[in-house]
Order: sequence, then structure tokens, then C-alpha cells
Amino acid sequence: MIKVLHLLLKFKNERLASGSDTINEHKKIAEEKGRLIWGHSSSKSTKLMSDKSRALYKNQFSKGIDTYCFFLTSIKGEQELYVGKLSEIYFRGEITSASPLKKFIPSYYAGNVGTGFPADKNNTLVDVSNFFKVDSKYVSRIKVRSSAKDFTSDVGRSSLFYVDINEDLEKLLIELLSNPEAKFQYEVEQEDVPDDVTVKDKPKDKPLKRLGSSTGSYKRDSKTSKNAIVTAKYKCEVDTTHENFVSRVTGENYVEAHHLIPMEYQDDFDTSIDVEANIISLCVGCHKKLHHATYSVIEPLIEKLYDDRIDRLKDCDIKLTSHKLHNYYK
Ligand SMILES: [Zn+2]
Ligand SMILES: [Zn+2]
Repeated sequence: MIKVLHLLLKFKNERLASGSDTINEHKKIAEEKGRLIWGHSSSKSTKLMSDKSRALYKNQFSKGIDTYCFFLTSIKGEQELYVGKLSEIYFRGEITSASPLKKFIPSYYAGNVGTGFPADKNNTLVDVSNFFKVDSKYVSRIKVRSSAKDFTSDVGRSSLFYVDINEDLEKLLIELLSNPEAKFQYEVEQEDVPDDVTVKDKPKDKPLKRLGSSTGSYKRDSKTSKNAIVTAKYKCEVDTTHENFVSRVTGENYVEAHHLIPMEYQDDFDTSIDVEANIISLCVGCHKKLHHATYSVIEPLIEKLYDDRIDRLKDCDIKLTSHKLHNYYK
């Protein structure tokens, strides 16, 4: 059997004039549109990838073989790894300046795309979906095909690599991409929020609907959920004595984020319910209970959580009666 070929792009996370940076601008597009075209820049006018290599990837795409593009950077000496499911690769000039695809490119450089070298530094552009951050320990599970070296040490000056991944990493990606809830909790864990974060409860605009999702479901922001978890000090808010195990990502008690008013009911409200006031930190057992137990089991939990949160929800202009909340769980 022929091994699947994946791609890795090493990039520099740059601070932008707007105060944002490379990663955040790309993340925003991926979250808003469910799709991202990442322009990999190079000072070279020649192609970083040969036609022959691209044909290998195209062959995989046409057969529906899961192909991933990894994005590796170093921030303050620490490696950060991101991944997306790869569906297309474009060379410079193939996305013209009038192309509708430009809406999937971050605005701070989309204007240059299709204008020709040297103004257009985007040597190779990759089209990805499901873009998210993975634990940097997986850097050692990605190896350059030609040398079998991994990226924990310096593998050379090149910025574009043909790579293989090991079974560990492949399993993780398959699991997370097939299970949106698992992927969301994983992303929440990866979010970096300081222990002393303060949350100010106030109304927020309704979140966007996820594009391309058949249910038109609303997006949840992983940072907002992490804020709620950090504010709860990684405790289960049904009962703070519930402790399961220490998370290897956070080094804290493992908890999950749960939206007290489930996101599917966003349409019933005029402001966002994806706010810290509506997000409960829960141990795995309590979380599963709220989703799967019979109503009689969860009724007292709902009542407690309603009492705990109703004042904070009011501060966010979320009008909720106990009756209405109970109905969502019946
Ligand atoms: Zn939940
Ligand atoms: Zn619990």
C-alpha cells in the first residue's frame, strides 16, 4: 500500500499593524467561513512545489483520501502546530485578482493575490477546512519523507515539506474530524487563558451560523468556553468535589465546557448565548448526564445551575425562565 503524503508549511508568525498576527487572522477566516486559503509566502519567484509533487496530492484528493496540511511556527521559542484538511493546492497566479476564492484569504494580503511577483509573495496556496491547533507534542510524529527526520530539531531551511505522519496522530485527526463535540472540547483545552482572567458579563452579538453545515448550527468560540472553565478554576460546577483526572494539556483537573442553554436554541434569543455566563465547567460524568440521562435525573442539576447563573445571564440580556430552561432538557 502506498503511504499517504501530507504537507507541512513552516511559517513565521508575524505581528501585523492591526495588532493581530498571522495565526489569528487565518483562524478568524477558518471560523467564519469554515474554509481557509492559506498563502504560503516566499521571496523566491520559482515554485516551491513541483508539478509532479502536486499531481501526487491531486491524485489523493480525487480519490477522497484524507490529506492534511500542517502549519508549524515558533512563538517565543515554543513550537505551535496547526492542521487543516487539505483539499486543493494552487500555485501563484492560479487564483486571479478577481477570483471569488479570495474571500477565503485573510484580507491583510488577499489584495496582493493574483497581482504577480514580486507584489504577490504567495508562492503556494493551500485550501483547507477544519483548521485547528493541535498539541505541539505531535511535532515529533511528523517526519519529512525524504529524510525521516522530525521537526523537533532543525530540519533545514526549506519552508515546505512533504511529510508522513504516524498512527497516533492519524488516529487523533480521524477522531476529532469525525466528532465535532470532541474537536470542540479539544480546542477548548488548547486555548491559552491566564489563570487570573476576568470576565465581564455583557450582551454580545449573536454568533454566526456555521457555513456549509446542513443544520445551520451556530459556532461556539473555544476561547469563551476556556474563559468560563478558568473562571471556574477547572472545577465541576455541579459539585466542586468531582475530580476525574489531571489533563495532560492543562495540568489541571479535566473538565468540559457545556452550554447551559444549548446552542441549538440560539434562535430563541436576541443576543449571543455563547457567553461565559451561559457556559458551565463540568466533569465528564456530569456532562454526559446532562446530555444522556433521563429528565428526572438531571432536573435538580438544571435547577441548581439555573439559580447559579440567572443573574449573570440577565447581565447579558438573556431572558430565561426556569420553565423554559427545563423544557430544553425534557
Ligand atoms: Zn454539553
Ligand atoms: Zn461533576
